[in-house]
Amino acid sequence: MSLFVQKFGGTSVGSKEAIIRSASIITKWSKKYKVVAVLSAMSGETDRLIGLTKLFSKNPNPYDYDNAISSGENVSCSLMSIYLNSTKIRSKSLMSWQIPILTSEEHMKSRILKIDRNKILKEFSKNDVLLIPGFQGINSKNEITTLGRGGSDTSAVAVAASLDAECIIYTDVDGVYTTDPRISPGAKKIDQITTEEMLELSSQGSKVLQPRAVEFAGKYDIGIRVLSTFEEGTGTLIKKENDDNMEKAIISGIAFNQDEAQLNIRGVPDQPGIASLILGPIADLNIDVDMIVQNVGEDGLANFTFTVPRNDYKVAMQSLERSAKKLKAKKVKGNNEIVKISMVGVGMRTHAGIASKMFSVLAKNNINISMISTSEIKISVVTNEDNLETAVNVLHKEFNLDK
Ligand code: ASP
Ligand code: MG
Repeated sequence: MSLFVQKFGGTSVGSKEAIIRSASIITKWSKKYKVVAVLSAMSGETDRLIGLTKLFSKNPNPYDYDNAISSGENVSCSLMSIYLNSTKIRSKSLMSWQIPILTSEEHMKSRILKIDRNKILKEFSKNDVLLIPGFQGINSKNEITTLGRGGSDTSAVAVAASLDAECIIYTDVDGVYTTDPRISPGAKKIDQITTEEMLELSSQGSKVLQPRAVEFAGKYDIGIRVLSTFEEGTGTLIKKENDDNMEKAIISGIAFNQDEAQLNIRGVPDQPGIASLILGPIADLNIDVDMIVQNVGEDGLANFTFTVPRNDYKVAMQSLERSAKKLKAKKVKGNNEIVKISMVGVGMRTHAGIASKMFSVLAKNNINISMISTSEIKISVVTNEDNLETAVNVLHKEFNLDK
Protein backbone atom coordinates (compact mmCIF):
# COMPACT_ATOMS: atom_id res chain seq x y z
CA MET A 1 0.00 0.00 0.00
CA SER A 2 1.54 3.33 -1.06
CA LEU A 3 0.63 6.20 1.19
CA PHE A 4 0.72 9.91 0.75
CA VAL A 5 0.12 12.68 3.27
CA GLN A 6 -1.20 16.05 2.18
CA LYS A 7 -2.02 19.10 4.19
CA PHE A 8 -4.50 21.74 3.09
CA GLY A 9 -4.28 25.16 4.76
CA GLY A 10 -7.13 27.44 5.76
CA THR A 11 -7.62 29.15 2.39
CA SER A 12 -7.58 25.75 0.67
CA VAL A 13 -10.68 24.76 2.65
CA GLY A 14 -12.00 28.30 3.23
CA SER A 15 -15.18 28.08 1.16
CA LYS A 16 -17.38 25.60 -0.67
CA GLU A 17 -15.45 26.26 -3.89
CA ALA A 18 -12.08 25.87 -2.17
CA ILE A 19 -13.13 22.57 -0.57
CA ILE A 20 -14.29 21.27 -3.94
CA ARG A 21 -11.04 22.35 -5.58
CA SER A 22 -8.92 20.69 -2.85
CA ALA A 23 -11.15 17.60 -3.12
CA SER A 24 -10.26 17.33 -6.78
CA ILE A 25 -6.56 17.27 -5.87
CA ILE A 26 -7.19 14.61 -3.22
CA THR A 27 -9.25 12.59 -5.71
CA LYS A 28 -6.46 12.69 -8.27
CA TRP A 29 -3.92 11.40 -5.76
CA SER A 30 -6.34 8.76 -4.49
CA LYS A 31 -6.25 7.01 -7.86
CA LYS A 32 -2.64 5.99 -7.16
CA TYR A 33 -2.23 6.19 -3.41
CA LYS A 34 -4.03 5.86 -0.13
CA VAL A 35 -4.28 9.49 0.95
CA VAL A 36 -4.23 11.05 4.38
CA ALA A 37 -5.32 14.66 4.12
CA VAL A 38 -4.61 16.78 7.18
CA LEU A 39 -6.81 19.85 7.18
CA SER A 40 -6.73 23.29 8.78
CA ALA A 41 -9.83 25.12 9.89
CA MET A 42 -11.56 27.23 7.23
CA SER A 43 -9.61 30.50 6.89
CA GLY A 44 -10.46 32.95 9.67
CA GLU A 45 -12.28 30.29 11.65
CA THR A 46 -9.70 29.81 14.41
CA ASP A 47 -9.55 33.60 14.92
CA ARG A 48 -13.33 33.66 15.08
CA LEU A 49 -13.41 30.89 17.68
CA ILE A 50 -10.73 32.61 19.77
CA GLY A 51 -12.80 35.81 19.57
CA LEU A 52 -15.86 33.95 20.82
CA THR A 53 -14.03 32.64 23.88
CA LYS A 54 -12.85 36.18 24.69
CA LEU A 55 -16.46 37.36 24.78
CA PHE A 56 -16.78 35.42 28.00
CA SER A 57 -13.39 35.78 29.65
CA LYS A 58 -10.14 37.66 29.08
CA ASN A 59 -8.33 34.59 30.35
CA PRO A 60 -10.31 31.51 29.33
CA ASN A 61 -9.22 28.34 31.12
CA PRO A 62 -6.94 26.36 28.81
CA TYR A 63 -8.97 23.12 28.88
CA ASP A 64 -12.23 24.63 27.64
CA TYR A 65 -10.35 27.01 25.38
CA ASP A 66 -8.70 24.13 23.50
CA ASN A 67 -12.04 22.34 23.16
CA ALA A 68 -13.44 25.45 21.52
CA ILE A 69 -10.60 26.50 19.25
CA SER A 70 -9.81 22.98 18.01
CA SER A 71 -13.31 22.55 16.62
CA GLY A 72 -12.71 24.39 13.31
CA GLU A 73 -10.52 21.56 12.05
CA ASN A 74 -13.19 18.95 12.85
CA VAL A 75 -15.66 20.84 10.69
CA SER A 76 -13.34 21.08 7.67
CA CYS A 77 -12.58 17.35 7.85
CA SER A 78 -16.24 16.43 8.11
CA LEU A 79 -17.27 18.70 5.24
CA MET A 80 -14.48 17.39 3.01
CA SER A 81 -15.43 13.80 3.73
CA ILE A 82 -19.13 14.47 3.13
CA TYR A 83 -18.25 15.93 -0.24
CA LEU A 84 -15.78 13.16 -1.22
CA ASN A 85 -18.30 10.46 -0.30
CA SER A 86 -20.94 12.22 -2.37
CA THR A 87 -18.58 11.89 -5.37
CA LYS A 88 -18.10 8.16 -4.62
CA ILE A 89 -14.62 8.44 -3.12
CA ARG A 90 -14.43 6.14 -0.11
CA SER A 91 -13.41 8.54 2.63
CA LYS A 92 -13.76 9.06 6.34
CA SER A 93 -12.97 11.85 8.80
CA LEU A 94 -11.15 10.76 11.93
CA MET A 95 -10.92 13.06 14.94
CA SER A 96 -7.51 13.14 16.61
CA TRP A 97 -8.73 11.31 19.72
CA GLN A 98 -9.85 8.39 17.56
CA ILE A 99 -6.36 7.68 16.25
CA PRO A 100 -5.08 8.90 18.78
CA ILE A 101 -2.61 11.72 18.18
CA LEU A 102 -1.06 11.71 21.62
CA THR A 103 0.43 15.01 22.84
CA SER A 104 2.17 16.36 25.90
CA GLU A 105 -0.02 17.46 28.81
CA GLU A 106 -0.03 21.24 28.47
CA HIS A 107 -2.72 23.07 26.52
CA MET A 108 -2.41 25.60 23.68
CA LYS A 109 1.18 24.70 22.84
CA SER A 110 1.35 20.94 23.16
CA ARG A 111 3.88 18.77 21.41
CA ILE A 112 2.99 15.62 19.52
CA LEU A 113 4.46 12.58 21.28
CA LYS A 114 3.07 9.62 19.38
CA ILE A 115 0.68 8.76 16.57
CA ASP A 116 -0.72 5.27 16.30
CA ARG A 117 -0.23 4.28 12.68
CA ASN A 118 -2.19 1.04 13.12
CA LYS A 119 -5.52 2.77 13.44
CA ILE A 120 -4.80 4.72 10.25
CA LEU A 121 -3.68 1.61 8.37
CA LYS A 122 -6.72 -0.34 9.54
CA GLU A 123 -9.10 2.35 8.31
CA PHE A 124 -7.53 2.12 4.87
CA SER A 125 -8.95 -1.37 4.40
CA LYS A 126 -12.36 0.26 3.91
CA ASN A 127 -11.37 3.74 2.75
CA ASP A 128 -9.12 5.37 0.19
CA VAL A 129 -8.97 8.79 1.81
CA LEU A 130 -8.77 9.72 5.48
CA LEU A 131 -9.33 13.27 6.69
CA ILE A 132 -7.45 14.12 9.86
CA PRO A 133 -7.72 17.45 11.67
CA GLY A 134 -4.50 19.40 12.05
CA PHE A 135 -3.63 21.53 15.07
CA GLN A 136 -5.11 19.21 17.70
CA GLY A 137 -4.35 16.11 19.71
CA ILE A 138 -5.27 14.42 22.93
CA ASN A 139 -3.13 14.15 26.06
CA SER A 140 -2.75 11.23 28.46
CA LYS A 141 -5.55 12.69 30.63
CA ASN A 142 -7.94 12.32 27.67
CA GLU A 143 -8.13 16.08 27.16
CA ILE A 144 -8.14 17.75 23.77
CA THR A 145 -5.01 19.84 23.25
CA THR A 146 -3.84 22.24 20.53
CA LEU A 147 -0.38 22.71 19.05
CA GLY A 148 -0.06 26.49 18.78
CA ARG A 149 -1.07 28.72 15.88
CA GLY A 150 -0.15 27.28 12.51
CA GLY A 151 0.08 23.83 14.11
CA SER A 152 -1.60 21.94 11.27
CA ASP A 153 1.71 21.90 9.42
CA THR A 154 3.23 20.06 12.34
CA SER A 155 0.32 17.59 12.47
CA ALA A 156 0.81 16.78 8.80
CA VAL A 157 4.54 16.21 9.09
CA ALA A 158 4.04 14.11 12.24
CA VAL A 159 1.43 11.95 10.50
CA ALA A 160 3.80 11.56 7.54
CA ALA A 161 6.61 10.55 9.91
CA SER A 162 4.44 7.95 11.61
CA LEU A 163 3.50 6.44 8.24
CA ASP A 164 6.93 6.85 6.72
CA ALA A 165 5.30 8.74 3.88
CA GLU A 166 6.10 11.90 1.94
CA CYS A 167 4.27 15.08 2.72
CA ILE A 168 2.87 17.78 0.48
CA ILE A 169 1.73 21.04 2.00
CA TYR A 170 -0.95 22.63 -0.19
CA THR A 171 -1.28 26.33 0.53
CA ASP A 172 -2.12 29.70 -1.01
CA VAL A 173 1.43 30.49 -2.15
CA ASP A 174 3.27 28.54 -4.83
CA GLY A 175 6.39 27.86 -2.76
CA VAL A 176 8.98 29.31 -0.41
CA TYR A 177 10.47 32.60 -1.62
CA THR A 178 13.88 34.18 -1.12
CA THR A 179 12.00 36.82 0.86
CA ASP A 180 8.44 38.14 1.16
CA PRO A 181 7.41 39.24 -2.36
CA ARG A 182 5.18 41.93 -0.83
CA ILE A 183 8.31 43.66 0.47
CA SER A 184 10.69 42.74 -2.35
CA PRO A 185 9.09 42.44 -5.77
CA GLY A 186 12.32 40.76 -6.97
CA ALA A 187 11.81 37.82 -4.60
CA LYS A 188 12.31 34.46 -6.33
CA LYS A 189 10.74 31.10 -5.66
CA ILE A 190 13.25 28.63 -4.23
CA ASP A 191 13.20 25.20 -5.96
CA GLN A 192 14.92 23.31 -3.20
CA ILE A 193 16.13 24.18 0.28
CA THR A 194 17.63 22.21 3.17
CA THR A 195 15.54 21.52 6.25
CA GLU A 196 18.18 23.29 8.30
CA GLU A 197 17.84 26.52 6.31
CA MET A 198 14.07 26.32 6.25
CA LEU A 199 14.03 25.91 10.03
CA GLU A 200 16.00 29.15 10.42
CA LEU A 201 13.78 31.00 7.92
CA SER A 202 10.60 29.81 9.68
CA SER A 203 11.93 30.61 13.13
CA GLN A 204 13.03 34.06 11.98
CA GLY A 205 9.67 35.08 10.58
CA SER A 206 8.93 33.34 7.26
CA LYS A 207 5.27 32.44 7.59
CA VAL A 208 5.03 29.55 5.11
CA LEU A 209 5.53 26.71 7.62
CA GLN A 210 5.32 26.41 11.38
CA PRO A 211 8.92 26.05 12.67
CA ARG A 212 8.01 22.95 14.64
CA ALA A 213 6.85 21.22 11.46
CA VAL A 214 10.25 21.80 9.91
CA GLU A 215 11.98 20.62 13.08
CA PHE A 216 9.94 17.41 12.91
CA ALA A 217 10.77 16.92 9.24
CA GLY A 218 14.46 17.27 10.00
CA LYS A 219 14.35 14.88 12.92
CA TYR A 220 12.54 12.11 11.03
CA ASP A 221 14.05 12.88 7.63
CA ILE A 222 10.72 13.59 5.95
CA GLY A 223 10.72 15.47 2.65
CA ILE A 224 8.16 18.26 2.39
CA ARG A 225 6.95 19.81 -0.83
CA VAL A 226 5.12 23.13 -0.65
CA LEU A 227 2.63 23.54 -3.50
CA SER A 228 -0.18 25.92 -4.36
CA THR A 229 -3.74 24.60 -4.26
CA PHE A 230 -4.72 27.19 -6.81
CA GLU A 231 -2.13 26.92 -9.57
CA GLU A 232 0.04 24.26 -11.18
CA GLY A 233 3.75 24.26 -10.41
CA THR A 234 6.63 22.39 -8.85
CA GLY A 235 6.70 24.44 -5.66
CA THR A 236 9.57 24.13 -3.20
CA LEU A 237 11.13 20.89 -1.96
CA ILE A 238 12.45 20.94 1.59
CA LYS A 239 14.74 18.08 2.46
CA LYS A 240 17.70 17.22 4.59
CA GLU A 241 20.45 17.57 2.02
CA ASN A 242 20.50 19.52 -1.20
CA ASP A 243 21.10 17.34 -4.25
CA ASP A 244 24.75 17.57 -5.21
CA ASN A 245 23.98 18.89 -8.63
CA MET A 246 21.99 21.78 -7.20
CA GLU A 247 23.91 25.00 -7.47
CA LYS A 248 24.45 26.02 -3.90
CA ALA A 249 23.65 29.61 -3.06
CA ILE A 250 25.62 31.15 -0.21
CA ILE A 251 22.53 32.90 1.07
CA SER A 252 19.21 31.20 0.47
CA GLY A 253 16.79 33.68 1.93
CA ILE A 254 16.00 36.72 4.05
CA ALA A 255 13.33 36.54 6.74
CA PHE A 256 12.06 39.27 9.01
CA ASN A 257 10.09 39.44 12.21
CA GLN A 258 8.04 42.40 13.35
CA ASP A 259 6.64 40.67 16.42
CA GLU A 260 9.37 41.65 18.86
CA ALA A 261 10.17 44.67 21.02
CA GLN A 262 13.47 45.82 22.45
CA LEU A 263 14.22 46.74 26.06
CA ASN A 264 17.32 48.43 27.39
CA ILE A 265 18.67 49.09 30.86
CA ARG A 266 21.74 51.30 31.34
CA GLY A 267 24.29 51.78 34.05
CA VAL A 268 23.89 48.66 36.14
CA PRO A 269 26.84 47.38 38.22
CA ASP A 270 29.10 45.00 36.30
CA GLN A 271 28.94 42.13 38.80
CA PRO A 272 28.19 38.41 38.81
CA GLY A 273 24.47 37.72 38.97
CA ILE A 274 23.26 40.93 37.35
CA ALA A 275 22.02 39.23 34.18
CA SER A 276 19.92 36.83 36.20
CA LEU A 277 18.58 39.65 38.39
CA ILE A 278 17.35 41.43 35.26
CA LEU A 279 16.16 38.47 33.19
CA GLY A 280 14.99 36.20 36.03
CA PRO A 281 11.85 38.24 36.80
CA ILE A 282 11.05 38.37 33.06
CA ALA A 283 11.33 34.59 32.79
CA ASP A 284 9.14 34.23 35.89
CA LEU A 285 6.43 36.10 33.98
CA ASN A 286 6.67 33.40 31.33
CA ILE A 287 8.02 35.85 28.77
CA ASP A 288 10.47 34.42 26.22
CA VAL A 289 13.59 36.49 25.77
CA ASP A 290 15.12 36.21 22.31
CA MET A 291 18.27 38.29 21.64
CA ILE A 292 20.45 39.49 24.52
CA VAL A 293 23.38 41.90 24.35
CA GLN A 294 25.48 43.09 27.27
CA ASN A 295 28.27 45.63 27.10
CA VAL A 296 30.48 47.08 29.78
CA GLY A 297 31.75 50.63 29.72
CA GLU A 298 35.02 51.90 31.17
CA ASP A 299 33.18 53.24 34.19
CA GLY A 300 32.59 49.64 35.30
CA LEU A 301 28.89 49.92 34.59
CA ALA A 302 27.08 47.60 32.19
CA ASN A 303 24.28 48.11 29.70
CA PHE A 304 21.83 45.39 28.85
CA THR A 305 19.60 45.11 25.79
CA PHE A 306 17.21 42.29 24.98
CA THR A 307 14.11 41.52 22.93
CA VAL A 308 10.76 39.99 23.93
CA PRO A 309 7.54 39.22 22.00
CA ARG A 310 5.77 42.50 21.22
CA ASN A 311 2.63 41.29 22.99
CA ASP A 312 4.62 41.09 26.23
CA TYR A 313 6.28 44.49 25.82
CA LYS A 314 4.27 46.40 28.43
CA VAL A 315 4.55 43.76 31.12
CA ALA A 316 8.27 43.26 30.44
CA MET A 317 8.85 47.04 30.65
CA GLN A 318 7.13 47.20 34.04
CA SER A 319 9.29 44.35 35.31
CA LEU A 320 12.44 46.05 34.00
CA GLU A 321 11.49 49.31 35.71
CA ARG A 322 11.13 47.48 39.02
CA SER A 323 14.57 45.84 38.54
CA ALA A 324 16.05 49.22 37.61
CA LYS A 325 14.95 50.69 40.94
CA LYS A 326 16.45 47.80 42.88
CA LEU A 327 19.74 47.93 40.98
CA LYS A 328 19.88 51.76 40.95
CA ALA A 329 20.25 51.66 37.18
CA LYS A 330 20.80 54.95 35.35
CA LYS A 331 18.13 54.56 32.71
CA VAL A 332 15.52 52.26 31.20
CA LYS A 333 14.42 52.51 27.56
CA GLY A 334 12.17 50.54 25.26
CA ASN A 335 11.25 50.43 21.60
CA ASN A 336 8.36 48.39 20.22
CA GLU A 337 8.80 49.57 16.65
CA ILE A 338 11.68 47.36 15.67
CA VAL A 339 12.21 44.64 13.12
CA LYS A 340 14.64 41.74 13.16
CA ILE A 341 16.04 40.93 9.74
CA SER A 342 17.84 37.63 9.22
CA MET A 343 19.90 36.30 6.35
CA VAL A 344 20.09 32.52 6.18
CA GLY A 345 22.29 30.17 4.19
CA VAL A 346 24.37 27.03 4.71
CA GLY A 347 27.01 28.67 2.51
CA MET A 348 27.95 30.87 5.47
CA ARG A 349 29.82 27.91 6.91
CA THR A 350 32.33 27.97 4.09
CA HIS A 351 32.32 31.62 3.08
CA ALA A 352 33.91 34.26 5.29
CA GLY A 353 32.91 37.89 5.22
CA ILE A 354 29.14 37.53 4.84
CA ALA A 355 28.47 39.40 8.09
CA SER A 356 30.82 42.26 7.28
CA LYS A 357 29.32 42.61 3.81
CA MET A 358 25.83 42.67 5.33
CA PHE A 359 26.83 45.43 7.76
CA SER A 360 28.51 47.52 5.10
CA VAL A 361 25.52 47.23 2.74
CA LEU A 362 23.25 48.44 5.54
CA ALA A 363 25.64 51.24 6.52
CA LYS A 364 25.86 52.49 2.94
CA ASN A 365 22.09 52.83 3.01
CA ASN A 366 22.14 54.71 6.28
CA ILE A 367 20.49 51.94 8.23
CA ASN A 368 21.43 51.87 11.88
CA ILE A 369 21.74 48.45 13.56
CA SER A 370 20.90 48.22 17.25
CA MET A 371 21.55 44.52 17.89
CA ILE A 372 23.31 41.67 16.12
CA SER A 373 23.22 37.94 16.64
CA THR A 374 24.65 35.09 14.62
CA SER A 375 24.51 31.34 14.35
CA GLU A 376 26.42 29.05 12.04
CA ILE A 377 24.06 29.63 9.12
CA LYS A 378 22.29 32.87 10.09
CA ILE A 379 22.98 36.53 10.80
CA SER A 380 20.24 38.63 12.39
CA VAL A 381 20.18 42.38 12.93
CA VAL A 382 17.65 44.55 14.72
CA THR A 383 16.79 47.95 13.33
CA ASN A 384 13.91 50.41 13.34
CA GLU A 385 10.76 49.19 11.63
CA ASP A 386 10.90 52.13 9.17
CA ASN A 387 14.00 50.56 7.64
CA LEU A 388 12.38 47.23 6.81
CA GLU A 389 11.71 47.71 3.11
CA THR A 390 14.99 49.39 2.26
CA ALA A 391 17.06 46.92 4.27
CA VAL A 392 15.45 43.81 2.80
CA ASN A 393 15.58 45.18 -0.73
CA VAL A 394 19.24 46.23 -0.67
CA LEU A 395 20.35 42.97 0.95
CA HIS A 396 18.27 40.94 -1.50
CA LYS A 397 19.98 42.71 -4.37
CA GLU A 398 23.55 42.84 -3.04
CA PHE A 399 23.51 39.12 -2.24
CA ASN A 400 22.18 38.34 -5.73
CA LEU A 401 18.99 36.73 -4.52
CA ASP A 402 17.10 38.34 -7.39
CA LYS A 403 19.24 36.56 -9.99
N1 ASP B 1 -6.28 26.60 12.43
C1 ASP B 1 -5.08 26.79 13.20
C2 ASP B 1 -4.62 28.23 13.09
O1 ASP B 1 -5.27 29.03 12.45
C3 ASP B 1 -4.01 25.84 12.82
C4 ASP B 1 -3.56 25.91 11.39
O2 ASP B 1 -4.31 26.30 10.51
O3 ASP B 1 -2.40 25.53 11.12
O4 ASP B 1 -3.63 28.57 13.67
MG1 MG C 1 -0.22 27.93 8.16
